[in-house]
Amino acid sequence: MSSNKVDMKEIHWLMDMLQSIDVGLVVLDRSLNIQIWNSFMANHSGIGNEVALGKSLFELFEDLPERWLRHKVEPVFHLKSRTFTVWEQRPYLFQFKNYRPITGTAQYMYQNVSFIPLLSADGEVNHVGIIVYDVTDAAVRKMAIKSANAKLEVLSQTDSLTQLYNRGFWEESLAREFKRVTRTGQPCSLIMFDIDHFKKINDNYGHPAGDEVIRQTAATLRDSIRETDVPGRYGGEEFAVLLIETSADDALMVAERIRNSIEALTVTHESYSIQFTVSLGIAELEGSMAEHEQLIHCADQALYQSKQTGRNFSTVFSAD
Ligand code: GH3
Ligand code: MG
Ligand code: MG
Repeated sequence: MSSNKVDMKEIHWLMDMLQSIDVGLVVLDRSLNIQIWNSFMANHSGIGNEVALGKSLFELFEDLPERWLRHKVEPVFHLKSRTFTVWEQRPYLFQFKNYRPITGTAQYMYQNVSFIPLLSADGEVNHVGIIVYDVTDAAVRKMAIKSANAKLEVLSQTDSLTQLYNRGFWEESLAREFKRVTRTGQPCSLIMFDIDHFKKINDNYGHPAGDEVIRQTAATLRDSIRETDVPGRYGGEEFAVLLIETSADDALMVAERIRNSIEALTVTHESYSIQFTVSLGIAELEGSMAEHEQLIHCADQALYQSKQTGRNFSTVFSAD
């Protein structure tokens, strides 16, 4: 007991020096009662030294994760080894409000926390030191970067006019699905389509009207397919959609739905009412296809057939 007292006195001297530093310092005894509580802890919790000392941590902070904390602290006593937790695992141990002006977006202080064994003169660990680092600035910065990167990633995959996948990302997705579907042997089909005489729309009504036609074509496409299908803007006025678990016959029905919806659509732009049609080509994935480009090639051939037939038409690819 007396050696304990000496230890605690030494820690107090250190604490006098450490009172002013910008980290939280807490010392707990084996019952997890507070033995040391520095001014950082007092300032942020609003609980002064005189109240905190001798109290159980869980009595003062009812929402502390008690099971987790005991589990964390136990090996520090027994194995005499340090341990820590970072904000990514647990945003904070003590729920302190965040008052930092720059990172005002964070409601609470993000914390990294270390648990260190405090050796007595007899080599026993009767106390554990907890160091609480305020890492709100770093955490908020890192989360902002992460969210910006996620937005950038979406932007880099998206066609800005239609919000469909752009050609690069769509083709990557097609290649991925192609591999997966070839492995599982599920049916899947590709529809490619192109707006008929689109040049005339641009010439007659102007480029912005043409853009609106493209936008509403994309919206019609989106409304005509399932969540699992993969639509993309393949080129200027060319669109493509991969239909998962769909045979060519079923894909033809989807194609006809798109064709009929577009035929019935009137796009209004300024004083213009614009009607137009699309031509479509359909190809089903076959075992003999080694590359996803072959599927595109077949759908494109079928689309060419539809144009030859007189446009506003759907054609299913056939090898002959
Ligand atoms: P077809 O029936 O044979 O498909 O004839 P088309 O006139 O639709 O085909 P063509 O490929 O000759 O013309 C496509 C036009 O689409 C040419 C290009 O200027 C226009 N275009 C491409 N991208 C855009 C775009 O983002 N906005 C607008 N307004 N026009 C575009
Ligand atoms: Mg075209
Ligand atoms: Mg066209």
